[in-house]
Amino acid sequence: MPTSKPAQGNIPVPQLDDVQLETLAVRAGQIRTPELEHSEAIFPTSSFVFNSAQEAAQRFSGEIGGNVYARFTNPTVSMFETRIAALEGGERAVAAASGMAAIMATFFALLKQGDHVLCSRSVFGTTNVFLEKYLCKFGIEVDFVDLCDYQQWREKLQPTTRIVFCETPSNPLCEVADMEELSKITSESKHPDGALFIVDNCFCTPALQQPLLFGADIVTHSATKYLDGQGRCLGGVVVGSEELMAEVHSFMRSAGPALSPFNAWVFLKGLETLSLRMRAHSEHALKVAEWLQAQDAIEQVYYVGLPGHPQFALAQRQQKSGSGVLSFKIRGDLKAAWAFIDAVQFISITANLGDTKTTITHPATTTHGRLSDEEKMRAGITDNLIRVSVGLENVDDIIQDLARGLSAIS
Ligand SMILES: *Cc1c(COP(=O)(O)O)cnc(C)c1O
Repeated sequence: MPTSKPAQGNIPVPQLDDVQLETLAVRAGQIRTPELEHSEAIFPTSSFVFNSAQEAAQRFSGEIGGNVYARFTNPTVSMFETRIAALEGGERAVAAASGMAAIMATFFALLKQGDHVLCSRSVFGTTNVFLEKYLCKFGIEVDFVDLCDYQQWREKLQPTTRIVFCETPSNPLCEVADMEELSKITSESKHPDGALFIVDNCFCTPALQQPLLFGADIVTHSATKYLDGQGRCLGGVVVGSEELMAEVHSFMRSAGPALSPFNAWVFLKGLETLSLRMRAHSEHALKVAEWLQAQDAIEQVYYVGLPGHPQFALAQRQQKSGSGVLSFKIRGDLKAAWAFIDAVQFISITANLGDTKTTITHPATTTHGRLSDEEKMRAGITDNLIRVSVGLENVDDIIQDLARGLSAIS
Protein backbone atom coordinates (compact mmCIF):
# COMPACT_ATOMS: atom_id res chain seq x y z
CA MET A 1 0.00 0.00 0.00
CA PRO A 2 1.47 3.38 -0.89
CA THR A 3 2.27 5.53 2.08
CA SER A 4 2.44 9.31 2.11
CA LYS A 5 5.51 10.91 0.53
CA PRO A 6 8.40 11.39 2.89
CA ALA A 7 8.57 14.87 4.38
CA GLN A 8 10.68 17.26 2.35
CA GLY A 9 12.59 18.57 5.30
CA ASN A 10 12.66 21.30 7.81
CA ILE A 11 13.58 24.86 6.88
CA PRO A 12 12.53 27.07 9.76
CA VAL A 13 10.87 30.38 9.01
CA PRO A 14 13.32 33.26 9.50
CA GLN A 15 13.59 34.94 12.87
CA LEU A 16 12.27 38.50 12.98
CA ASP A 17 14.47 40.52 15.29
CA ASP A 18 14.09 44.25 15.38
CA VAL A 19 11.93 44.59 12.26
CA GLN A 20 9.30 47.20 11.43
CA LEU A 21 5.54 46.84 11.19
CA GLU A 22 5.53 46.39 7.40
CA THR A 23 7.82 43.38 7.75
CA LEU A 24 5.73 41.88 10.56
CA ALA A 25 2.62 42.27 8.39
CA VAL A 26 4.24 40.10 5.70
CA ARG A 27 6.11 37.57 7.82
CA ALA A 28 5.09 37.38 11.48
CA GLY A 29 3.52 34.19 12.75
CA GLN A 30 4.24 31.91 9.83
CA ILE A 31 4.28 28.17 10.52
CA ARG A 32 6.05 26.07 7.85
CA THR A 33 5.25 22.40 7.38
CA PRO A 34 7.72 19.75 6.15
CA GLU A 35 6.34 20.38 2.63
CA LEU A 36 8.37 23.63 2.75
CA GLU A 37 5.63 25.80 1.32
CA HIS A 38 6.63 29.46 0.89
CA SER A 39 3.13 30.89 1.31
CA GLU A 40 1.16 30.06 4.44
CA ALA A 41 -0.88 26.83 4.27
CA ILE A 42 -4.58 26.40 4.94
CA PHE A 43 -5.42 23.59 7.36
CA PRO A 44 -9.03 22.69 6.63
CA THR A 45 -9.35 20.15 9.40
CA SER A 46 -11.71 20.08 12.35
CA SER A 47 -9.66 17.71 14.49
CA PHE A 48 -6.09 16.52 14.97
CA VAL A 49 -4.63 13.06 15.60
CA PHE A 50 -2.47 11.79 18.43
CA ASN A 51 0.40 9.28 18.55
CA SER A 52 -1.17 7.34 21.39
CA ALA A 53 -4.01 7.25 23.84
CA GLN A 54 -1.63 8.65 26.42
CA GLU A 55 -0.71 11.60 24.19
CA ALA A 56 -4.39 12.26 23.52
CA ALA A 57 -4.99 12.43 27.26
CA GLN A 58 -1.99 14.72 27.74
CA ARG A 59 -3.04 17.09 24.97
CA PHE A 60 -6.60 17.22 26.20
CA SER A 61 -5.50 18.06 29.71
CA GLY A 62 -3.10 20.71 28.42
CA GLU A 63 -0.15 18.85 29.97
CA ILE A 64 1.53 19.01 26.57
CA GLY A 65 0.83 21.61 23.89
CA GLY A 66 -0.53 21.03 20.40
CA ASN A 67 -3.74 21.08 18.46
CA VAL A 68 -6.75 19.09 19.63
CA TYR A 69 -9.83 20.43 17.88
CA ALA A 70 -10.30 23.42 15.57
CA ARG A 71 -12.76 25.18 17.88
CA PHE A 72 -9.76 25.53 20.24
CA THR A 73 -6.86 26.03 17.83
CA ASN A 74 -6.08 25.61 14.14
CA PRO A 75 -2.64 26.33 12.65
CA THR A 76 -3.90 28.77 9.98
CA VAL A 77 -5.95 30.64 12.57
CA SER A 78 -2.95 30.62 14.94
CA MET A 79 -0.78 32.20 12.23
CA PHE A 80 -3.31 35.00 11.82
CA GLU A 81 -3.52 35.49 15.60
CA THR A 82 0.25 35.67 16.02
CA ARG A 83 0.60 38.10 13.14
CA ILE A 84 -2.09 40.51 14.34
CA ALA A 85 -0.75 40.38 17.92
CA ALA A 86 2.67 41.37 16.56
CA LEU A 87 1.17 44.22 14.55
CA GLU A 88 -0.81 45.61 17.48
CA GLY A 89 2.12 45.13 19.85
CA GLY A 90 0.10 42.85 22.13
CA GLU A 91 1.08 39.61 23.84
CA ARG A 92 -1.63 37.46 22.35
CA ALA A 93 -4.57 37.61 19.96
CA VAL A 94 -7.72 35.50 19.78
CA ALA A 95 -9.55 35.23 16.45
CA ALA A 96 -13.31 35.01 16.04
CA ALA A 97 -15.83 34.28 13.30
CA SER A 98 -16.76 37.97 12.90
CA GLY A 99 -16.09 41.36 14.41
CA MET A 100 -19.24 40.99 16.50
CA ALA A 101 -18.13 37.54 17.70
CA ALA A 102 -14.85 39.13 18.82
CA ILE A 103 -16.74 41.83 20.72
CA MET A 104 -19.20 39.34 22.20
CA ALA A 105 -16.42 37.02 23.40
CA THR A 106 -14.51 39.92 24.95
CA PHE A 107 -17.52 41.22 26.89
CA PHE A 108 -18.82 37.84 28.01
CA ALA A 109 -15.38 36.63 29.05
CA LEU A 110 -14.50 39.68 31.11
CA LEU A 111 -17.81 40.83 32.63
CA LYS A 112 -20.00 39.44 35.35
CA GLN A 113 -23.42 40.28 36.74
CA GLY A 114 -23.45 43.70 38.40
CA ASP A 115 -20.62 45.10 36.28
CA HIS A 116 -20.99 48.38 34.43
CA VAL A 117 -19.93 49.19 30.87
CA LEU A 118 -19.22 52.73 29.74
CA CYS A 119 -19.39 53.03 25.97
CA SER A 120 -19.08 55.76 23.36
CA ARG A 121 -22.41 56.65 21.80
CA SER A 122 -20.88 56.55 18.33
CA VAL A 123 -19.93 52.89 18.06
CA PHE A 124 -20.85 50.43 15.32
CA GLY A 125 -24.67 50.04 15.37
CA THR A 126 -24.67 46.32 16.10
CA THR A 127 -22.26 46.81 19.02
CA ASN A 128 -24.87 49.18 20.39
CA VAL A 129 -27.65 46.60 19.95
CA PHE A 130 -25.54 43.84 21.51
CA LEU A 131 -24.87 45.93 24.63
CA GLU A 132 -28.35 47.41 25.03
CA LYS A 133 -30.51 44.48 24.08
CA TYR A 134 -28.51 41.44 25.15
CA LEU A 135 -25.78 42.25 27.65
CA CYS A 136 -28.33 44.14 29.77
CA LYS A 137 -30.38 40.93 30.09
CA PHE A 138 -27.59 39.41 32.16
CA GLY A 139 -27.51 42.09 34.83
CA ILE A 140 -24.83 44.21 33.25
CA GLU A 141 -25.44 47.94 33.17
CA VAL A 142 -24.49 50.04 30.17
CA ASP A 143 -24.19 53.80 29.76
CA PHE A 144 -23.47 55.66 26.55
CA VAL A 145 -21.56 58.95 26.39
CA ASP A 146 -20.38 61.38 23.70
CA LEU A 147 -17.00 60.25 22.39
CA CYS A 148 -15.08 63.49 22.90
CA ASP A 149 -16.83 64.77 26.05
CA TYR A 150 -14.39 63.60 28.75
CA GLN A 151 -16.43 65.32 31.45
CA GLN A 152 -19.30 62.97 30.58
CA TRP A 153 -17.03 59.91 30.66
CA ARG A 154 -15.90 60.93 34.16
CA GLU A 155 -19.42 61.66 35.38
CA LYS A 156 -20.80 58.33 34.20
CA LEU A 157 -17.90 56.28 35.52
CA GLN A 158 -19.12 54.10 38.38
CA PRO A 159 -17.39 52.06 41.10
CA THR A 160 -18.61 49.01 39.18
CA THR A 161 -17.28 50.12 35.77
CA ARG A 162 -15.32 47.18 34.38
CA ILE A 163 -15.14 48.09 30.68
CA VAL A 164 -14.70 51.43 28.93
CA PHE A 165 -15.22 51.02 25.18
CA CYS A 166 -14.82 53.25 22.14
CA GLU A 167 -14.02 53.45 18.45
CA THR A 168 -11.71 56.17 17.21
CA PRO A 169 -12.09 57.71 14.70
CA SER A 170 -15.86 57.43 14.93
CA ASN A 171 -18.22 56.34 12.19
CA PRO A 172 -19.39 58.24 10.18
CA LEU A 173 -18.34 61.68 11.47
CA CYS A 174 -14.66 60.87 12.06
CA GLU A 175 -14.42 62.29 15.57
CA VAL A 176 -11.14 61.42 17.26
CA ALA A 177 -10.94 60.44 20.94
CA ASP A 178 -7.90 61.08 23.10
CA MET A 179 -7.04 57.51 24.03
CA GLU A 180 -4.57 58.49 26.76
CA GLU A 181 -7.29 60.55 28.41
CA LEU A 182 -9.82 57.69 28.21
CA SER A 183 -7.21 55.29 29.58
CA LYS A 184 -6.66 57.67 32.51
CA ILE A 185 -10.40 57.91 33.14
CA THR A 186 -10.66 54.10 33.03
CA SER A 187 -7.97 53.78 35.69
CA GLU A 188 -10.09 55.93 38.02
CA SER A 189 -12.72 53.16 38.26
CA LYS A 190 -12.92 51.51 41.68
CA HIS A 191 -13.87 48.08 40.29
CA PRO A 192 -12.15 45.47 42.49
CA ASP A 193 -10.74 43.63 39.46
CA GLY A 194 -9.68 46.89 37.80
CA ALA A 195 -11.29 48.42 34.72
CA LEU A 196 -10.30 47.73 31.14
CA PHE A 197 -10.08 50.27 28.32
CA ILE A 198 -11.01 48.63 25.01
CA VAL A 199 -10.64 50.20 21.57
CA ASP A 200 -12.27 48.89 18.39
CA ASN A 201 -9.44 49.66 15.94
CA CYS A 202 -11.29 48.62 12.81
CA PHE A 203 -11.11 52.01 11.06
CA CYS A 204 -7.35 52.54 11.35
CA THR A 205 -5.90 49.05 11.68
CA PRO A 206 -2.49 48.71 13.39
CA ALA A 207 -0.87 50.01 10.20
CA LEU A 208 -2.08 53.49 11.16
CA GLN A 209 -2.80 53.34 14.88
CA GLN A 210 -1.78 51.07 17.77
CA PRO A 211 -4.16 51.76 20.68
CA LEU A 212 -2.12 49.63 23.14
CA LEU A 213 0.62 52.31 22.90
CA PHE A 214 -1.91 54.91 24.05
CA GLY A 215 -3.08 53.04 27.13
CA ALA A 216 -5.70 50.65 25.76
CA ASP A 217 -5.77 47.26 27.51
CA ILE A 218 -7.49 45.46 24.65
CA VAL A 219 -7.98 46.06 20.93
CA THR A 220 -10.85 44.52 18.97
CA HIS A 221 -11.20 44.26 15.20
CA SER A 222 -13.68 43.43 12.56
CA ALA A 223 -11.21 41.73 10.21
CA THR A 224 -14.03 41.92 7.67
CA LYS A 225 -13.02 45.49 6.86
CA TYR A 226 -9.46 46.68 6.20
CA LEU A 227 -7.61 43.58 7.47
CA ASP A 228 -9.12 41.59 4.63
CA GLY A 229 -9.34 44.75 2.58
CA GLN A 230 -11.13 43.20 -0.35
CA GLY A 231 -14.58 42.47 1.01
CA ARG A 232 -14.33 38.67 0.90
CA CYS A 233 -14.67 37.24 4.39
CA LEU A 234 -16.19 37.80 7.81
CA GLY A 235 -13.85 37.61 10.77
CA GLY A 236 -12.74 39.31 13.94
CA VAL A 237 -9.89 39.35 16.41
CA VAL A 238 -9.10 40.55 19.94
CA VAL A 239 -5.60 41.53 21.15
CA GLY A 240 -4.26 42.07 24.67
CA SER A 241 -2.22 40.60 27.50
CA GLU A 242 -1.70 36.86 27.79
CA GLU A 243 -3.78 36.86 30.97
CA LEU A 244 -6.81 38.62 29.49
CA MET A 245 -6.64 36.73 26.21
CA ALA A 246 -6.58 33.41 28.07
CA GLU A 247 -10.01 34.38 29.42
CA VAL A 248 -11.27 35.42 25.98
CA HIS A 249 -9.92 32.22 24.42
CA SER A 250 -11.51 30.12 27.13
CA PHE A 251 -14.88 31.73 26.38
CA MET A 252 -14.33 31.32 22.63
CA ARG A 253 -13.65 27.57 22.84
CA SER A 254 -16.66 27.10 25.10
CA ALA A 255 -19.12 29.28 23.19
CA GLY A 256 -17.89 28.34 19.72
CA PRO A 257 -17.65 31.35 17.37
CA ALA A 258 -14.32 30.14 15.95
CA LEU A 259 -12.78 31.66 12.83
CA SER A 260 -12.65 29.33 9.83
CA PRO A 261 -9.13 28.45 8.61
CA PHE A 262 -10.01 29.56 5.09
CA ASN A 263 -11.01 33.02 6.31
CA ALA A 264 -7.88 33.20 8.48
CA TRP A 265 -5.81 32.46 5.39
CA VAL A 266 -7.56 35.24 3.43
CA PHE A 267 -6.78 37.64 6.29
CA LEU A 268 -3.12 36.52 6.36
CA LYS A 269 -2.88 37.38 2.67
CA GLY A 270 -4.73 40.66 3.30
CA LEU A 271 -2.29 41.64 6.05
CA GLU A 272 0.65 41.28 3.67
CA THR A 273 -0.54 44.35 1.77
CA LEU A 274 -2.06 46.17 4.76
CA SER A 275 0.50 48.96 5.12
CA LEU A 276 0.52 49.72 1.40
CA ARG A 277 -3.26 49.68 1.18
CA MET A 278 -3.79 51.87 4.23
CA ARG A 279 -1.32 54.42 2.87
CA ALA A 280 -3.12 54.46 -0.48
CA HIS A 281 -6.60 54.58 1.12
CA SER A 282 -5.48 57.58 3.19
CA GLU A 283 -3.92 59.38 0.22
CA HIS A 284 -7.02 58.87 -1.88
CA ALA A 285 -9.39 59.88 0.91
CA LEU A 286 -7.43 63.07 1.54
CA LYS A 287 -7.61 64.01 -2.16
CA VAL A 288 -11.34 63.28 -2.27
CA ALA A 289 -11.89 65.26 0.96
CA GLU A 290 -9.97 68.25 -0.41
CA TRP A 291 -11.94 68.12 -3.64
CA LEU A 292 -15.28 67.88 -1.82
CA GLN A 293 -14.34 70.80 0.39
CA ALA A 294 -13.87 73.00 -2.66
CA GLN A 295 -17.38 72.32 -4.01
CA ASP A 296 -20.16 74.87 -3.47
CA ALA A 297 -22.85 72.19 -3.13
CA ILE A 298 -21.02 70.60 -0.19
CA GLU A 299 -21.81 72.09 3.20
CA GLN A 300 -19.20 70.31 5.30
CA VAL A 301 -16.61 67.57 4.98
CA TYR A 302 -15.64 65.26 7.87
CA TYR A 303 -12.22 63.71 7.44
CA VAL A 304 -9.47 63.15 9.99
CA GLY A 305 -6.72 64.12 7.53
CA LEU A 306 -8.02 67.64 6.84
CA PRO A 307 -6.09 70.33 8.75
CA GLY A 308 -9.47 71.93 9.59
CA HIS A 309 -10.61 68.81 11.50
CA PRO A 310 -11.39 69.78 15.12
CA GLN A 311 -9.02 67.13 16.53
CA PHE A 312 -6.40 67.34 13.78
CA ALA A 313 -3.43 67.70 16.16
CA LEU A 314 -4.60 64.78 18.30
CA ALA A 315 -5.15 62.63 15.21
CA GLN A 316 -1.63 63.46 14.02
CA ARG A 317 -0.32 62.17 17.33
CA GLN A 318 -2.35 58.96 17.37
CA GLN A 319 -2.63 58.04 13.69
CA LYS A 320 -0.09 57.79 10.88
CA SER A 321 -2.75 59.04 8.44
CA GLY A 322 -6.48 59.54 8.13
CA SER A 323 -7.57 56.12 6.80
CA GLY A 324 -10.12 55.79 4.00
CA VAL A 325 -13.48 56.75 5.46
CA LEU A 326 -14.93 60.24 5.18
CA SER A 327 -18.36 61.77 5.21
CA PHE A 328 -19.89 65.02 4.01
CA LYS A 329 -23.08 67.01 4.18
CA ILE A 330 -24.54 68.24 0.93
CA ARG A 331 -26.60 71.40 0.62
CA GLY A 332 -29.97 69.70 0.29
CA ASP A 333 -32.39 67.26 1.88
CA LEU A 334 -32.87 63.50 1.96
CA LYS A 335 -34.12 63.44 -1.62
CA ALA A 336 -31.02 65.27 -2.80
CA ALA A 337 -28.75 62.93 -0.83
CA TRP A 338 -30.39 59.91 -2.45
CA ALA A 339 -30.17 61.58 -5.88
CA PHE A 340 -26.44 62.15 -5.32
CA ILE A 341 -25.95 58.49 -4.38
CA ASP A 342 -28.04 57.19 -7.29
CA ALA A 343 -26.06 59.27 -9.80
CA VAL A 344 -22.68 57.64 -9.23
CA GLN A 345 -21.65 55.14 -11.87
CA PHE A 346 -19.19 52.61 -10.43
CA ILE A 347 -18.99 53.51 -6.75
CA SER A 348 -20.91 50.75 -4.92
CA ILE A 349 -24.04 51.60 -2.96
CA THR A 350 -23.37 49.43 0.08
CA ALA A 351 -22.86 49.88 3.79
CA ASN A 352 -19.56 47.99 3.85
CA LEU A 353 -16.28 49.84 4.26
CA GLY A 354 -12.58 49.11 4.13
CA ASP A 355 -12.67 47.61 0.66
CA THR A 356 -10.54 48.24 -2.42
CA LYS A 357 -13.85 49.19 -4.04
CA THR A 358 -15.12 52.66 -3.14
CA THR A 359 -18.49 52.51 -1.39
CA ILE A 360 -21.16 55.11 -0.70
CA THR A 361 -23.79 55.02 2.05
CA HIS A 362 -26.66 57.16 3.35
CA PRO A 363 -26.22 56.63 7.14
CA ALA A 364 -29.56 58.16 8.22
CA THR A 365 -31.59 55.56 6.31
CA THR A 366 -29.23 52.55 6.51
CA THR A 367 -26.52 52.05 9.14
CA HIS A 368 -28.13 54.49 11.57
CA GLY A 369 -31.72 54.02 10.40
CA ARG A 370 -32.95 52.44 13.61
CA LEU A 371 -31.99 55.49 15.72
CA SER A 372 -34.81 57.82 16.81
CA ASP A 373 -34.85 61.33 15.34
CA GLU A 374 -33.49 62.67 18.60
CA GLU A 375 -30.68 60.13 18.72
CA LYS A 376 -29.80 60.91 15.11
CA MET A 377 -29.68 64.62 15.83
CA ARG A 378 -27.48 64.01 18.84
CA ALA A 379 -25.13 61.86 16.78
CA GLY A 380 -25.07 64.40 13.93
CA ILE A 381 -26.62 61.92 11.49
CA THR A 382 -28.63 64.30 9.33
CA ASP A 383 -30.57 63.49 6.16
CA ASN A 384 -28.01 65.36 4.03
CA LEU A 385 -25.07 63.28 5.32
CA ILE A 386 -23.30 60.85 2.96
CA ARG A 387 -20.47 58.49 3.90
CA VAL A 388 -17.82 57.30 1.47
CA SER A 389 -15.22 54.61 2.07
CA VAL A 390 -12.60 55.63 -0.46
CA GLY A 391 -11.13 52.66 -2.31
CA LEU A 392 -8.12 51.96 -4.47
CA GLU A 393 -9.49 52.74 -7.93
CA ASN A 394 -7.74 55.64 -9.68
CA VAL A 395 -8.45 58.60 -7.43
CA ASP A 396 -9.28 60.90 -10.35
CA ASP A 397 -11.89 58.39 -11.47
CA ILE A 398 -13.33 58.29 -7.95
CA ILE A 399 -13.57 62.09 -7.92
CA GLN A 400 -15.13 62.10 -11.38
CA ASP A 401 -17.74 59.60 -10.23
CA LEU A 402 -18.57 61.70 -7.17
CA ALA A 403 -18.83 64.69 -9.52
CA ARG A 404 -21.67 62.82 -11.25
CA GLY A 405 -23.43 62.73 -7.90
CA LEU A 406 -22.79 66.39 -7.44
CA SER A 407 -24.23 67.30 -10.85
CA ALA A 408 -27.44 65.48 -9.89
CA ILE A 409 -28.05 68.01 -7.12
CA SER A 410 -26.65 71.27 -8.51
C1 LIG B 1 -18.18 46.05 10.87
C2 LIG B 1 -17.78 46.48 12.22
C3 LIG B 1 -17.95 45.65 13.33
C4 LIG B 1 -18.60 44.29 13.23
O1 LIG B 1 -17.84 43.43 12.45
P1 LIG B 1 -18.47 42.18 11.65
O2 LIG B 1 -17.26 41.53 11.09
O3 LIG B 1 -19.42 42.73 10.64
O4 LIG B 1 -19.17 41.34 12.66
C5 LIG B 1 -17.53 46.10 14.55
N1 LIG B 1 -16.98 47.33 14.70
C6 LIG B 1 -16.80 48.15 13.66
C7 LIG B 1 -16.21 49.48 13.88
C8 LIG B 1 -17.21 47.77 12.39
O5 LIG B 1 -17.06 48.61 11.35
